[in-house]
Amino acid sequence: VNKGFPDGTQAVAKVSIEIKDQEFLVLVGPSGCGKSTTLRIIAGLEGSTGGVVRIGGRDVTNVAPKDRNIAMVFQNYALYPHMSVYKNMAFGLKQAKTDPKEIDRRVQDAAKILQLDSYLDRSPRNLSGGQRQRVAIGRAIVRDPEVFLFDEPLSNLDAALRVQTRLEIARLHERLGNTMIYVTHDQVEAMTLADKIVVLRDGRIEQVGSPITLYDTPANAFVAQFIGSPKMNFFSAGDLSNNAGQLLGRELVAGQDVGLRPEHLIPVDEAQSVVAGKLELVENLGEYALVHMVTTTGVEFIAKTEKPPQQAKGEIIHFAIKPELAHYFDKETGLRA
Ligand code: ADP
Repeated sequence: VNKGFPDGTQAVAKVSIEIKDQEFLVLVGPSGCGKSTTLRIIAGLEGSTGGVVRIGGRDVTNVAPKDRNIAMVFQNYALYPHMSVYKNMAFGLKQAKTDPKEIDRRVQDAAKILQLDSYLDRSPRNLSGGQRQRVAIGRAIVRDPEVFLFDEPLSNLDAALRVQTRLEIARLHERLGNTMIYVTHDQVEAMTLADKIVVLRDGRIEQVGSPITLYDTPANAFVAQFIGSPKMNFFSAGDLSNNAGQLLGRELVAGQDVGLRPEHLIPVDEAQSVVAGKLELVENLGEYALVHMVTTTGVEFIAKTEKPPQQAKGEIIHFAIKPELAHYFDKETGLRA
């Protein structure tokens, strides 16, 4: 599909994705990359400016959202404030003139799955953010859709609730087995939830693959630095130690960036040094330390180590890496080299 806006913005450009039945697909990328627009095109809430959407083989490009057999969960919950939790969850089915007994069965089932049984009479106003989002998810579950669409559903929750609700969504997928399409800017959500991730940038697909594929073999510099936290360090050949090429088993060339993940850097003696720097700052998080360094050529980088370094601020520390964990990207095209 494509989506151009009248002001010339190309929000989605030739995005082509195949999603398997029961797959959990995550669309991820920085703000403005076209994730929501892509999801809204799948939902039918936004028209495309070219392209086709098929669900289960059926061409739904010109089918109204309500007839696509999808259910969407939004960031802002979008609950009816004057209705009880029960009525919020039942609303769509009532509109569709479903048998009241069937409505009750489905609402009770969903409430059980989401542990909302004891809140059914409450008004959304008297629920926490996490509970409200569960009601919104419940409203989607009762419709028993072919496809669930989630648009940044955890963004309005605090950190602890985000982790908990993320786990609930993963369990829900295990249990229901529906196809799910999930939009987020958060690479941790993408990595933990997805069977398959689509990384978008400026309306285009950068890479499609399993979380581990994206982490182990990013197709380009953008994906390499988007997936993983802290992000992958990038160096030019001239920033590395003199015998770095020999230690990495590869000739280092001026036209390539060398990418080394912080968690793969190991403190070593000077003789084994692939990259060295002056210690600037240590963030000690207990279970690991983030060691902030700067090379003599002025490139800042981070090493994630089990223990904080012995060295004092301003001292030189040398690091090595297993050769197979180093990444190489063409400076001009950004492509994996
Ligand atoms: P994301 O969800 O990844 O943050 P969006 O899909 O919301 O990104 O937006 C993609 C791009 O389309 C952005 O550059 C955004 O500014 C632009 N955009 C969204 N809606 C409109 C609109 N109605 N008119 C013009 N540009 C828009």
